[in-house]
Amino acid sequence: MDAFYDEGTLVAVLTTQPLDRALDYKAPEGGCWQGAYVEVPLGPRKVLGVVWGPGQGDFDYARVRSVIRVLDAAPMRDELRSFLERAGDYTLTPLPAMLRLATRAPGLGDAPSMRKIYRLGDSEPERMTDARRRVLEVLSDMGGLALTQGELAETAGVTPSVIKGLAKMGAVREEEAPRDTPFPRLDPDYGGKALADDQAVAAQDLRAGVASGRYGTVLLKGVTGSGKTEVYLEAVAECLAQGRQALVLLPEIALTAEFLTRVEARFGARPAEWHSGVTVTERRRVWKQIAAGGAQLVVGARSALFLPYRDLGLVVVDEEHDTSYKQDEGVFYNARDMAVLRASICAAQVVLASATPSLESWANADAGKYRRLDLTSRFGASVLPEMRAIDMRAETLPSNRWVSPSLQSEVLARLQKGEQAMLFLNRRGYAPVTICRACGHQIGCPHCDARMVEHRFLQRLVCHQCGETIAKPETCPSCGAEDKLAAVGPGVERLAEEAAELFPQARLAVLSSDLFGSARALKEEIEKIAQGGADIVIGTQLVAKGHNFPLLTLVGVIDADLGLQGSDLRAAERTFQLMRQVAGRAGRAEKPGVALLQTYQPEHPVIRAILSGDEEGFWQAEADERRAAGMPPYGRLAGVILSSTEVQEVFDLGNAMARQDAPLRRIGAQVYGPAPAPIARVRGRHRVRLLVKAPKGVALQPALAEWAAQFRLRGELRMAIDIDPQSFF
Ligand code: ADP
Ligand code: ZN
Repeated sequence: MDAFYDEGTLVAVLTTQPLDRALDYKAPEGGCWQGAYVEVPLGPRKVLGVVWGPGQGDFDYARVRSVIRVLDAAPMRDELRSFLERAGDYTLTPLPAMLRLATRAPGLGDAPSMRKIYRLGDSEPERMTDARRRVLEVLSDMGGLALTQGELAETAGVTPSVIKGLAKMGAVREEEAPRDTPFPRLDPDYGGKALADDQAVAAQDLRAGVASGRYGTVLLKGVTGSGKTEVYLEAVAECLAQGRQALVLLPEIALTAEFLTRVEARFGARPAEWHSGVTVTERRRVWKQIAAGGAQLVVGARSALFLPYRDLGLVVVDEEHDTSYKQDEGVFYNARDMAVLRASICAAQVVLASATPSLESWANADAGKYRRLDLTSRFGASVLPEMRAIDMRAETLPSNRWVSPSLQSEVLARLQKGEQAMLFLNRRGYAPVTICRACGHQIGCPHCDARMVEHRFLQRLVCHQCGETIAKPETCPSCGAEDKLAAVGPGVERLAEEAAELFPQARLAVLSSDLFGSARALKEEIEKIAQGGADIVIGTQLVAKGHNFPLLTLVGVIDADLGLQGSDLRAAERTFQLMRQVAGRAGRAEKPGVALLQTYQPEHPVIRAILSGDEEGFWQAEADERRAAGMPPYGRLAGVILSSTEVQEVFDLGNAMARQDAPLRRIGAQVYGPAPAPIARVRGRHRVRLLVKAPKGVALQPALAEWAAQFRLRGELRMAIDIDPQSFF
């Protein structure tokens, strides 16, 4: 049983304000529980906080202020408190910032909002009309149940004023009911599919894990279309049957709609949703119902990990390799790793699902830390796509063209058969570079060291770093020449232009994140494509993620070499994953699919591994290389990004940090840098990067904390530490 603090007892309250400790307050009238969400005075303001433990008592009792009130929410459980503490220790994030992640439901302090509901009253109306009769009939059909005004008006086919009138006469009863209502119950036995043999084996294993009531992580590796979703929904079913809560994390909001439909087919009702597209009122309902146990299943984005579950029994991380699970600003955390941490604290199971797992998860399974289940064939009649290279050195293309004659004729063949083709290019916008043909000047962002990308759809040049946009100039900003600015290189919009010329009879659909104003518009477009509303789909990596396009039989990758340039540690891994995922979009139904990769280096080991499909060989080779270099997952990395408006200031600090590295040397870690970050200026701030490399198994975080604490950040200087960095921007 959690501690209860009587009125006047000192309690330590952690607030979301950037202070370095919890502050003492007196428990309010009526006392409060450990973990209670409270409102406390802080200077002239009232702020949100949580009763974190007993007060420290190192302050004059008479001057300690009282908690203002306890909010109407279930107290934070010990499990969530230790999760926040340990996640904060891991990511070197102060606790108030962690608490902010766990209280992202605006209006938590508000009184529960109410709405009016109606039931049958005791008296007859003096004068009966048709409309009135219909209302009373609907209510009497409902037995004792109540309806909202909207539901009642719609079912009875009347205006709200008819209902109001009846309420005045007492013929219907008007009541206030809380708006934050529980979610409909999900039925674990509602609509299960008959599973194929390998699916059934995997599902049984997952069910047993959930039923054990203990912590465990499983890597569910299944080729695209093998039915991973069907299989992990069985684990969800077991979790619901156990009376515990389940969370399914998806990497992309655009995927939720399709997933919710599948949940409804499987469990007979819709789950709670948690992501940036959910309204404020609904967020509060979800937050409260999760704490109260009125939500059994949450489908959401990475931040759903910080919700106040009453009894979390299962976390599924779908497409676990996806980079969007890593939050790269504010609190730097990887939702995949934090899911494992939280599950280990609350005795829950984790399912990491992917066709192309991260090397981290592959290595954890290899080392026996995770169990591993494999689904090696597609469900039913559909087979994996055949993959081939198009050797671009042998193709003749006019300038400013990117679709090779070979790819063109393959697309035409699909169009003639009434099948869909996809052209994939992982570059947003029209052209990545705008250059002056007179002086060679390239148009760059005024605030960043980045080139402006032309977006014809928006009719602007856009900086992909800071979002700055400018109208495309008519004269060169450098030499003043007129009509000399030229677009160089392709983006999806330009590819669409080329496709329209090559295939004038085809209906094109372009899928790129900036072409859609809302998640809903994007979702509608995706549904339209799935139903055959387009012949050629042109897209960025948005299309690589999990969508089901049954008519699609050909995927053409315009530039398979794109991800292999650059020096990123994960370039090979990312290219491998992306190409296999994109190819996996083809041939999901009965007709077999083909993926064609346009490449200038068909003999590159990564391209060869992609084509041969020798995944274990690829992972093994990649693992050997990382192990030899002491790189993750066989060594540890931390990135440090320093920034300031003053370039000298950042380099001075960076140099001082590189010199005063004793705390790091003590654990056998090395510092590299300072070096200008790959994008050396963003939003007018100069950026310098250091990289810390440590052996696996040392206490890296305490050493980093001690090292960083030696330096004072004055004025404009900022320091961000990124544990296990995924990108090196
Ligand atoms: P993955 O997540 O591995 O890509 P899905 O779970 O989306 O695969 O399954 C691919 C397709 O096959 C979906 O349309 C799904 O409904 C269907 N499917 C998979 N398993 C079964 C099954 N046992 N019975 C019926 N349909 C299935
Ligand atoms: Zn910029």
